[in-house]
Amino acid sequence: MMASDQPGATERLRDVCDRISAAAALARRHADEIALVAVSKTVDAAAIVPLIAAGQRRFGENRVQEAAAKWPTLKARFPDVELHMVGQLQSNKAAEAVALFDVIHSLDRPSLVAALVKAMAETGRQVPCFIQVNLAEETQKGGCPVDGIADLIRFAQASGITLAGLMTVPPATLEPAPYFALLAKLAADHGLRDIPNGISGGLSMGMSADFETAVMLGATHVRVGSALFGGRT
Ligand SMILES: *Cc1c(COP(=O)(O)O)cnc(C)c1O
Repeated sequence: MMASDQPGATERLRDVCDRISAAAALARRHADEIALVAVSKTVDAAAIVPLIAAGQRRFGENRVQEAAAKWPTLKARFPDVELHMVGQLQSNKAAEAVALFDVIHSLDRPSLVAALVKAMAETGRQVPCFIQVNLAEETQKGGCPVDGIADLIRFAQASGITLAGLMTVPPATLEPAPYFALLAKLAADHGLRDIPNGISGGLSMGMSADFETAVMLGATHVRVGSALFGGRT
C-alpha cells in the first residue's frame, strides 16, 4: 500500500460488510437486502476515493453545502455513485438537494414535501424519499412525530413523491433496539410495504454503533460513518 493511501479504508469496508453479512445471516436475511450507505460527512475527497475504488457505491452526506463542494467532481469521475442526503434539509435548499442527491432520508414535514415537489418538477428528477420519524420526539432533532406520519405519507403520495420507507435516528444515550423495532412496526402499520408510489418498504436505521442490531430488526439501509472513515473531529 502506498503511503498516501488512507490507511485501512478498504479493510474497514470489508469489516463492516462482513459484520452486516453476519447479522443478516443470524436474522435469516440475505445480505444483499441491506444497502450500506457510507456517511462521508467531514471526510475529504481523497479519503473517499479509496472506498469507491474498493467497490463502495452508496455515500451519504448531511449538509447540502458540503456535498455540493465535494461530490460533483467525484460523480463526474465515478458516475455510478449514488448519493444519499441523511441530514436535516431546509426547504430553501430543496432545489440544490434534488439536483445533487439520488435519495433523501430526511423528509419530515409538509412544507418540505411542497419544496421538493416543486424542485423535482423543475429538474425532471424523481428523487425517492424516506420519511424521517422522530420516535422519542427529541426537540433538537429533525423528524416527523409519530402522530404525524399518516398525514405526511398521504400528503407526500398525493403530491407525487416516491416514498422509499421510514428513517430514524434513535436517542443517542438509550438502547436503540426498541426504536428500531418500533420503526419497523410503524412501516408495517402504515402500509409502507405495499404503496402505490413506493419503490420498497425501506427502513433506514442503524449507524456505526448499532448497525448490526438494526440489520437484525429489518434495516434495509444502514448509514455508517465513523466505522468506515475513523472518528470525526
Ligand atoms: C453522521 C450520521 C450517520 C453516521 O454516523 P456514525 O456514527 O459515524 O456511523 C448516520 N446517520 C446520520 C443521520 C448522520 O448524521
